[in-house]
Amino acid sequence: MAFERTYIMLKPDCVKRGLIGEVISRIEKKGFKIENMKMIQLDEKILREHYAHIADKPFFPGVLDYMQSGPVVAMIVTGDNAIKGMRNLMGPTNYDEAKGGTIRGDFATSTGENIIHGSDSPETAEAEIKRFFS
Ligand code: UDP
Ligand code: MG
Repeated sequence: MAFERTYIMLKPDCVKRGLIGEVISRIEKKGFKIENMKMIQLDEKILREHYAHIADKPFFPGVLDYMQSGPVVAMIVTGDNAIKGMRNLMGPTNYDEAKGGTIRGDFATSTGENIIHGSDSPETAEAEIKRFFS
């Protein structure tokens, strides 16, 4: 198992619904560590960078609005296989596939409003940590 660092973000719906503690508790109980954490308001510029891979999708304008609708909690999370491990804890992107027991399965209200972001590869983890923590 490889020690990894990943970028995790609690999205505006997580903050508004009072689920910060619940979600952080699951991350910690799984054995991952929070190396750094801050609450920030995102702007369109950083979101266009962060979500460049979905910029041509019809749902992109909705993501831009949703992600600016309130503050997010940005975190660097570390541990053995933290990148894949956090994706497993989060559950899949697709609302219909997110099973109970995962963060998205238990709390997401749609594919769009899905509580949490996590890096999907070592390359994106490095770029996202740099984007939000430098
Ligand atoms: N999203 C959406 N509809 C979709 C796919 C994605 O609204 O059909 C939103 C959702 O908030 C998702 C984000 O766009 O978390 C980024 O999409 P990505 O494919 O990177 O999913 P993730 O890595 O967050 O699971
Ligand atoms: Mg993604």
